[in-house]
Parts: sequence; structure tokens; C-alpha cells
Amino acid sequence: MCLRLFVCLLSTIAIAAAAASRPNILFIFSDDHGTQAISAYGEKRHLINTPNIDRIAREGIRFDRCLVTNSLCGPSRATVLTGKYSHLNGFYNNTNSRFDGSQTTFPKLLRAAGYQTALVGKWHLVSDPTGFDFWEILPGQGQYFNPPMIRNGEKVTFKGYVTDIITDESIAWLKQRDKTKPFLMMVQNKAPHGEWSPAMRDLDWDKGRVYPEPETLFDTYDNGRGLAWRDQDLNLAKTFNERLAKLVPPPSLDPEQRALWDAYLGPRNAAFRKAAPTGRDLVRWRYQTYMHDYLGTVKGIDDNVGRLLAALEAEGLADNTLVIYASDQGFFLGEHGWYDKRWVLEPSLRTPFVVRWPGRVKPGSTNGDLVSVLDFAQTLLDAAGVQAPADMQGRSLMPLLRGEHPKDWRTSFYYHFYEFPTPNRVRPHEAVVTQRYKLAHYYGDVDDWELYDLKRNPLETINFISDPSYAEVIQDLKAELARLRAQYHVPPKPPRSAHGNLPFPGEKLN
Ligand code: CA
Repeated sequence: MCLRLFVCLLSTIAIAAAAASRPNILFIFSDDHGTQAISAYGEKRHLINTPNIDRIAREGIRFDRCLVTNSLCGPSRATVLTGKYSHLNGFYNNTNSRFDGSQTTFPKLLRAAGYQTALVGKWHLVSDPTGFDFWEILPGQGQYFNPPMIRNGEKVTFKGYVTDIITDESIAWLKQRDKTKPFLMMVQNKAPHGEWSPAMRDLDWDKGRVYPEPETLFDTYDNGRGLAWRDQDLNLAKTFNERLAKLVPPPSLDPEQRALWDAYLGPRNAAFRKAAPTGRDLVRWRYQTYMHDYLGTVKGIDDNVGRLLAALEAEGLADNTLVIYASDQGFFLGEHGWYDKRWVLEPSLRTPFVVRWPGRVKPGSTNGDLVSVLDFAQTLLDAAGVQAPADMQGRSLMPLLRGEHPKDWRTSFYYHFYEFPTPNRVRPHEAVVTQRYKLAHYYGDVDDWELYDLKRNPLETINFISDPSYAEVIQDLKAELARLRAQYHVPPKPPRSAHGNLPFPGEKLN
């Protein structure tokens, strides 16, 4: 009896020691949050102050070139979970892809290693989550107000604003967790995704501020750029619809919310209808409403990041929790006259990524190496002392978190976007990206190669592909693209279904 008690005590001590040595992981992940809308990233336009996200960066590290593999919600999420490109995890687009939940993911491996795993918020991978002790997700895209959610397979309903609710549910889970185990908590916001509705308390949050315009708001898509630029369908001039402009209310408002909505948006919309702007004035009006509303949702995120950090402190978890704030991709905030994402261009290719890990990451660090959401899985496994499977395609960022710059770190990155023609008509393209250049191949109903030079033309408004002075650069980049395709086992041609259900212009589907 005495011996059994002793053994039991020893094993309890062993579990507690293991838990203490392995960090908890709080992974806060938003949807469509561009770096331009985080003050720590120093956007020239100074669009917003985000003190709580900035605090993570200030007390940890800010990665300045975290790139996505495929700038779209579902595909990026599948890459985060699997550490693999779309062509290997099977999730290419948001139109007809369905995540195969039987494949290996980092939450499954952490769970098998003794972590308690939880996911709350936006999931967007069609199949139910696997690998989580607790999951509570928005169905599909979810809605901003009074969102239904699915908790471990059962429908639950809420009244209120989606970012608050996701945070409330995450904090509630943290409080009731099994304290003998380390945890992985994935908090996945819907915001600032379209239709970017701020909380009712934030409807007038910026007090009518007029936002500086980006230099390329009226881009004319010249300088050798191809059809992909001119034929897209994600621009403020033509595509920005009444729902995005808040000229019609979102569904699901209750009468009390609708009254608040009308009180703020009624006068704004009446003024718009009276002025009836056209041409450049209309683009300008749409840009201002877009910034007001989108950034209002970012304020809601930042306030709730503050609540999560306070909850960690209240639970005594701040010192042994690795905290990440990131997004599934960046977003155009008026650059090139656009909203949305998809492109290999900087605003949508780069995603925010800041990490706080007390005692392990030096406060106030920055890193400009080419890193990716592809690296998240291996990094978090490494942080937990769990061996990553050999077929994951990223690399652990642990040395970078320690402030090192490994000599053999990647100097080029492979990118591939597939979804076409709907929605948004952005041509499928693959690209090789380096610190200075991007060589992109647009295909489908076009066959256009474009070269961007971030040093000479950071706004990416010139295609240098026909400039003879770049001949050698282009040759080297084509060779690098071929090398990356081989390294990542990219098939010669993607399956037709990778692009969605509809034919390309001029194409017949069987
Ligand atoms: Ca997204």
C-alpha cells in the first residue's frame, strides 16, 4: 500500500515536472489581417493602433517576412495544421476542397504527446476538426452577430459579437482545463474577414477619421503587366458590393442591434445616396468606408487579444506560455485599388507573425528572414520537444526565436495560388520569391511570366520580364523555381479540381 502510494506520488511529480518544462501554446489566428493594420509593423499610413498585438511583439519577436504558401483562408489553415503545401495536404481552394481529417497534424501529435488541445472560432475546412479534446467552431464563414457555433458536434447559439464570443469561450476553456497537462489553445477569429462588421460599441470608433490613401489606389495596371491584373474582380471601383459597403445590414441582427446599426449607418448611407459619387469619388468613398469598418473589426480583435493576455496572467500562465498572433494571409487595404488577397504581391503574401515566449525569446527582437506559415507546425512541435514527421515541408523556427540566423536558412520560397475563375477572377499562378525578386507564372487561360523587383519597385507596379538587364536574374529564378518544385514534390500539373468547379474562359469541362 505504502509502496503503491509512493509510486503514484512519483508519477504525479513526473507529470507535473513534464508539464512545467513544456510550454503551453496560445495560438491566436485571425482571418485576412494584413500587416498594414498592425501598428507594430509600422505602416506608413498609420492606419490603427493595436497596443495588445504590439505588446506581444514588444515582449517577444516580430517576423517581418512571414509568407503564405497559397493566399487564401482554407488552404492556409490546412498548411498551418499539416506543415505541407496544398498539393500534398489536398486543400487547394475554398470552392470544392474538403480537408482530409485523417492526415497527420501538429495538434494531433501534441495531443499524443500529452498536450490538452482546444480550438475555438473560425475553422473553414469543411470536415469536422480532428485532433482536439475540445472544439467549438463557426460553421463555414460564420457570422459577425449572434453566431451559431458547433461545439464538439453539437449546435450552440450565442447573442453578441463574434470576436467577443470566441474570446469568452476560449477563456472559459482555459479556466476549466486539466491543470496537470500543458495545453494548445487555438483561438481563431472570423474578423477582420468580409463583411468586416465592427462591434456595435465600435461603430463610431474612429470618430470620422479620413484615412490616407495608398499610393496605388488608382493603379492603371500598365508597365508590362498582363491580363491577370486588368481582369481581376476584387477592386473597389467595380466589385465592392453593397454588403461590403454596409449599404445593407448583415443578416442576423436582433432588433436592438438593428436599431444601433441604423442609428450609425443610416446617416452615413443617406449622405452617400445624396452625393451619389461616381468614378474616382466613388472609389474614394468606398476606400474610406472600407478602412473605417475593416479597422473597426481589428480594434475588436486587439481589445480581445488584451483580454486573452490578461486571462493568461490571471491563471498564472503568462511565464510558461508561448503566445503567437498571426493571420491566415495578408490583405489588400486599397493597394492597386483592391480589397481581398490571393496574389503573390506583398500585401497578401506577407502575413503578420509575432511570438512571445518569456525566458526563451528576447523581448523586442525582429527577424527579416523568409519564414512561412509552412513552418508553424514544426516550430510548435519543436517547442514542445516532439519529433516532427520527416514529410512535413517547413522548418522549425526555434533557432530564429533564439535570435540566430542559420547559414543554411532558405533564401527562396515557393508560392502557388489555384482558385479560378470564381470568386474574384485572380488567375492561378505559381511563383518563386526571394528577398528581392518574385518571378510569377500566371496560367489558365493566359501564359504570362512577370518579374517584380522589390528593391527598385517596392510597390510592384512594373513587370521587368522583358527588360534585358534582368536576363540572368530571370534565368536563375527559373532554375530556382524548378529546384523548389522538385524539393516540394510539386506535380507537373495540378489536378483540374484544384481550381474549383467552373471552367476557365474558353475551357470546356467534361
Ligand atoms: Ca483568410
